[in-house]
Amino acid sequence: MTDTRAVAGSGESGADAVGPVPSAVAPASSPSPSLAPDATPIQDHDGSVTDGITIPHGCVVLAATPIGNTGDASLRLIALLQQADIVAAEDTRRLYDLARRLGVHVNGRVVANHDHNERQKADSLLDEVEGGATVLLVSDAGMPTINDPGLAIVRRAIERGLPVTCAPGPSAVLDALALAGLPTDRFCYEGFVPRKTSDREQRLRSLHNEMRTMVFYEAPHRISETMDALLAAFGPDRQMALCRELTKDYEQVRRGSIEQVRQSVVDDPPRGEIVLVIAGASAEEVNETSPVVLTDEQLARLAQERADAEGIRMKDAIAEVIKEHPLPDGSFPNRKKVYQASLTLK
Ligand code: SAM
Repeated sequence: MTDTRAVAGSGESGADAVGPVPSAVAPASSPSPSLAPDATPIQDHDGSVTDGITIPHGCVVLAATPIGNTGDASLRLIALLQQADIVAAEDTRRLYDLARRLGVHVNGRVVANHDHNERQKADSLLDEVEGGATVLLVSDAGMPTINDPGLAIVRRAIERGLPVTCAPGPSAVLDALALAGLPTDRFCYEGFVPRKTSDREQRLRSLHNEMRTMVFYEAPHRISETMDALLAAFGPDRQMALCRELTKDYEQVRRGSIEQVRQSVVDDPPRGEIVLVIAGASAEEVNETSPVVLTDEQLARLAQERADAEGIRMKDAIAEVIKEHPLPDGSFPNRKKVYQASLTLK
């Protein structure tokens, strides 16, 4: 495997608009790109592996880019990079760097399309689509829209009845899921683990009874505290996989129980990009801990019983009881309301 981690800066312009304005202005295609009447095979180099690949005109094309290994670029991606009238890229320097590594020339106009401007850009790009242009959208790595820009233009294209299609390819979610060795028949993608401690704890608590395999993205500098939070939320024995540097030279998958993987993180802190895959709850776990949502009055009564039995202050008993009864979204019942209810207990 070749380590193809992105190298910043290709020496080419990172400006917002580079290259020729699309000249081919065809009537707006039907919303189904596969039926686009004016789609043409690329023709600019004889005998090339991309010959025969159809480029849809008057269409937005989301294309996945490699997540570490340049060899994962699809032939469609290569053809689209060469042929699209406009390439909307999350980071134009990274786009040119990818093109350089692939040995392709980006002929179309390149525009920056990132989290901060994608909503503003969507309509002007779609005006070009309406005029017959092929607008290729790529993010820095992997599938656009998966924790990356792209959703704004997809939604706006749907609203405007314009065609949008996808040249699928690498994405860390599916790569990690496939390698983890955990059930793949049902899974959920949970995006990045929340950064703020309280948000992180609440999110993980809310997933305690999730029966599907869960996939999270995480950054290496937060992995240690996230492993502690996983241990607190799911216990030591749940199976998991920590997948790092996927598709790269130093690809590594650490599989085991949460406790074992957590210990490995202490012993050998992982570097690079990370995906965490956590087994879903078993039926027994769910049955054992099925969250019963108690009323404020029921919680107050439990707290009263505890305060009497253990000789502790009502305030402290309420705090304990509330912690033991998180709501289905992982938040805790309202302490003041439980206290109010306790005042009316007979
Ligand atoms: N759109 C991308 C996709 O389809 O996977 C995800 C972009 S998100 C901003 C970046 C995160 O994806 C990283 O922080 C990491 O959690 C995960 N990721 C991306 N490439 C990875 C790789 N080669 N190995 C492990 N995780 C990766």
